[in-house]
Amino acid sequence: MKTDPDCIFCKIVAGQIPARRIYEDDHLLAFPDINPAAPVHLLVVPKTHLVNLDDTNTEHQTLLGNMLLLAPRLARERGATNGYRVVVNNGADGGQEVFHLHMHILGGPRPWNRL
Ligand code: AMP
Ligand code: ZN
Repeated sequence: MKTDPDCIFCKIVAGQIPARRIYEDDHLLAFPDINPAAPVHLLVVPKTHLVNLDDTNTEHQTLLGNMLLLAPRLARERGATNGYRVVVNNGADGGQEVFHLHMHILGGPRPWNRL
């Protein structure tokens, strides 16, 4: 498990910054986005520090697959029953602000705040 001492999501994984842990297994953690863009806005992060999708390779196939498989499950469990959006921002022009790979799950009744 890689960790970056300056990374906010590594600190959440380690429990050093609080977050409501709505799903957790050995490799993944999900928690609500602190600044939600939609009625349901969750983040799913790998526990190991990966910068973004550019930092992944075939070794991460199972991890990436399991992240995607969480989207329909968590969307449903959190009440986004009429559709949802899955977003991964990569790099500066991709709008990435936190440089630890994360998947946004956005849903709930529209209109949303942004996106
Ligand atoms: P991105 O632009 O894809 O890098 O998105 C980073 C997301 O992380 C933003 O939507 C922030 O609101 C969210 N975020 C930043 N800090 C925290 C935190 N401590 N807990 C939960 N979400 C956070
Ligand atoms: Zn990190």
